[in-house]
Formats: sequence, C-alpha cells, structure tokens
Amino acid sequence: MPELPEVETIRRGLEEKIKGLTIKNVEVRLAKQFQGKATDIIGAKVLSVRRRGKVTIIDLSNGKSLIIHLKLTGQLVFRHDGRSFIGGHPIPFAGTDLPAKTTHIIFDFTNGARLFYNDLRQFGWIKVLRSEEVNTTSAIGKLGIEPFTNDFSLEAFSPILKRSSKPIKLVLMDQEKIAGVGNIYANDALFEAGIDPRRKANSLTPSEGHKLFISLHSVLKEAIKYGGSSAADEAYVNAAGVPGKYQDHFRVYQRQGQLCLNKCGQKIVRIALSGRGTFFCPHCQK
Ligand SMILES: [Zn+2]
Repeated sequence: MPELPEVETIRRGLEEKIKGLTIKNVEVRLAKQFQGKATDIIGAKVLSVRRRGKVTIIDLSNGKSLIIHLKLTGQLVFRHDGRSFIGGHPIPFAGTDLPAKTTHIIFDFTNGARLFYNDLRQFGWIKVLRSEEVNTTSAIGKLGIEPFTNDFSLEAFSPILKRSSKPIKLVLMDQEKIAGVGNIYANDALFEAGIDPRRKANSLTPSEGHKLFISLHSVLKEAIKYGGSSAADEAYVNAAGVPGKYQDHFRVYQRQGQLCLNKCGQKIVRIALSGRGTFFCPHCQK
C-alpha cells in the first residue's frame, strides 16, 4: 500500500495535471468503489489536491470534495493529448488501451482530459462529500497526527509512546496515532533510531523517543525527495508513471541477509511482527 511519501508524490503530480480543470462527466462502472452522487460533481472545477495520511482529497469549486484511498492496488491514470500519467499501483491495465477491465471509475474533463481509476483487487474507493465534512469523515477524522505539520511535535509524539505497551513498530504504523506511516518507513525509522522494533512503546526512554521522532521525520522527508519507494511487494509508480527511488536507499527494509549499513559486521534479519515483514540489525537496534 502506498505510504505517506508515495501518496504525497501522487498528490503533487495529480494536482499539477488536474488543478483548474472542470469535470464534464463521471462514469461509475463498479458501484462499490464510488460513494455519493456522481452528479454532484459535474460542472465543478478542481481547486486543489490535498493529502491527509494515505488519503488524497480533491477540493472542488462547488463545495464538494472527492476523497480517494488507493489501498493495495488502486491506480490513477491521467490522459490528455495522447499522453499518460500514472500514480499508484503499477500493474499494467489489460491491453494497451483504457478503459481496461480493471477500470472502475472514469472522470471526463471539459478540455478532453480523462482520469481513470483502475483497481485490480477493488479494495480502494472514491467518495463524494461536502468539503466541510472532509475532516470528520471516518477515513480522515480518526487519523492521528500528520507529519510535516505543526501538530507533529515531540510534545505530541512522546505521549503516544507512553500510552502503549504494544511493540513500537506497530504503534508507528497505527494510523489513528500517526498518519501515513506504513511498513517501509516504520522499519527504516527504527533502524535510524537504533531501536528494536519489538520493544514495547512505553519502554522507550525520553532520549530514545526523541531520536525516533527525528528519524521518522527524516526518513519520510528523504522518501518524498526520492518520489517514494517502488519495492517488490509495495509496488507503486508516481504521477509520471515512473518508479520512486527511495528503495535504493532502504536501511533495513527488504535487506534481510545483507550487511548492516552501520558496518557493524552483522546481517539484517527478517522476522514477522503481527504478520508483517519486520527488518532490523540485531547488533545496532536494542
Ligand atoms: Zn548493525
């Protein structure tokens, strides 16, 4: 599933493409992936494309907003003048033309541009809401603190750790605590901070909590700089249809059996924690 850096990269690319365009028509081919009335957004202009956690928000000129969750295999393909831009899962749509079998929603803009929502496994969704309802809708209202905002402070982060006896990695990935962090960046941030992913969150000392706060921020920032990650099992491409580059900078994620980047001489190990691949250096992470 795309995490914060991947969704942020898609958001930036999508905003560049659709900001200012007017929606001419919406074709919903699979009702379960579209909530709300499609007719509510026809004739509306795209004002901005925002993000909260892993959710993309498209604000429209008529007081409505579209919220999009790509989940595992959601993919947005923008086409105009014979050119194509893709964001999300890179599984090629069947055949060379769109709409494909996996195309479930199509937006037509008045300038002739089209935006296709493809989703092989159909876990993703698009929802029409009044813009003032966006912050309180269940997918967004429950989200925890947002990195890269003023809400993301050590004062907000420390109590999150103090209040949980769950393994620290699971706390970092809990969307209701911190928004947007998934498996890749939780693993790498813990390596940077030198903390064993299995440690109970409330066992971290204030200085470890501080280190983790800093490393989470820096790992996410670096990932955005590289346009996100396109790892084997976290497949994703950005709005230009090209893979992200952060996977060339993974610290521990998917590096099991390879030498620790700290040159401690140990190899990265992989264990399962709550069913998810968990990667760490047994020497450097305590
Ligand atoms: Zn090491």
